[in-house]
Amino acid sequence: MVKETAFYDLLGVAPTASDTEIKKGYRKAALKYHPDKNPSEEAAEKFKEISAAYEVLSDSQKRQVYDDYGVEGLTSGGPGGSGGMDDIFSQFFGGGFGGGFGGAPRGPQKGADIKHSIGATLEELYKGRTAKMALNKTVLCKTCDGLGGKSGSVKKCPHCGGQGVKFVTRQMGPMIQRMQVHCEQCNGTGDIIDPKDRCKTCNGKKTVSERKVLQVHVEPGMKNGQRIVFKGEGDQEPNIVPGDVVFVVTEKQHAVFKRSGDDLVLEKEIDLITALAGGEFHVKHVSGNYIKVSIIPGEVIGADSVKVVEGQGMPIFKNGGYGNLFIKFSVKFPENNFSDDEGLAKLRSILPTPKPEAKLPKDAIVDDVDLVEFNEYKHDSSRRRAHHHDDDDEDEGQPGVQCASQ
Ligand SMILES: [Zn+2]
Ligand SMILES: [Zn+2]
Repeated sequence: MVKETAFYDLLGVAPTASDTEIKKGYRKAALKYHPDKNPSEEAAEKFKEISAAYEVLSDSQKRQVYDDYGVEGLTSGGPGGSGGMDDIFSQFFGGGFGGGFGGAPRGPQKGADIKHSIGATLEELYKGRTAKMALNKTVLCKTCDGLGGKSGSVKKCPHCGGQGVKFVTRQMGPMIQRMQVHCEQCNGTGDIIDPKDRCKTCNGKKTVSERKVLQVHVEPGMKNGQRIVFKGEGDQEPNIVPGDVVFVVTEKQHAVFKRSGDDLVLEKEIDLITALAGGEFHVKHVSGNYIKVSIIPGEVIGADSVKVVEGQGMPIFKNGGYGNLFIKFSVKFPENNFSDDEGLAKLRSILPTPKPEAKLPKDAIVDDVDLVEFNEYKHDSSRRRAHHHDDDDEDEGQPGVQCASQ
């Protein structure tokens, strides 16, 4: 339920309208009352109202404030603080034309949102989980209903008119400055309470601290950074609309799987014989079940090939479907001298014959060379350069500055 519909009425749309419908409604209404088409003063006023309505409804945050609190919520600054909106609304809806939208310019301000992060493993994000989160929050004192004292004993501070702040003018040389200062008489609260009438529970502070347990539902398929919002569960203060408590999902790293959107990625090393002749392996999936992956004999898994297991990714949030599981294969080759000559000859007879080499030019000079193992001290040119500049003793004395590629 929205609090008021005036803005929607101006654009000729329902409060349930989509962003596109609102844009369409605005175009239609604006065209009708555009000063170029309709030069009357009434139309000009109407055009201003339509523009202001669109400014609010086209901004999801402002629209939410308007839906919840009406124009009053917007004129008091809303979540964006004071400033721009105040000007627009005092101009159009406040003094301007007799409060057509019931807009006294002061209304409830919205308190700050409180953010917490909630960690979740891939298993938890797969199945969903409910966490009980306890937090301390400020609530209006129930004994005095947030008044700070007995009803009737709380008086608006006469020194600041209940604002909690005062304006003073100061002469600084030839200049006169107007400054806003904290009201000392009411200690910035805007109220004066006789000490004997002060509420015993909150000691006149109007609020008390309370422990509250929230049930946070991490739903299947939620992603890192996704927000779980408890509307209005933020700290309560007199004359403000409490902000929200927001839990931000923080995905924990998994030892086996990586997540990519709704998909899972598994890096799997298989033996050369499995890659060539088939085999199977098992993986514990984040669902808790094991999955059996079979490589069919005859199917060759290349060194960097990627295969897909459909439907074995993460659940898709509020969709009912699942992403896919990508398996990135790497192939483990056998060690040196894994076979004798007879075995190698057998392999030669089985594996495809290598492509013949291109013929060398007749006058080619051929140098016969040897292969040796790579040695990073001897063969890495960037290292070699560093060693020319560095003193070897220093290098050994400070392990922190050694090359990281070890
Ligand atoms: Zn109280
Ligand atoms: Zn005061």
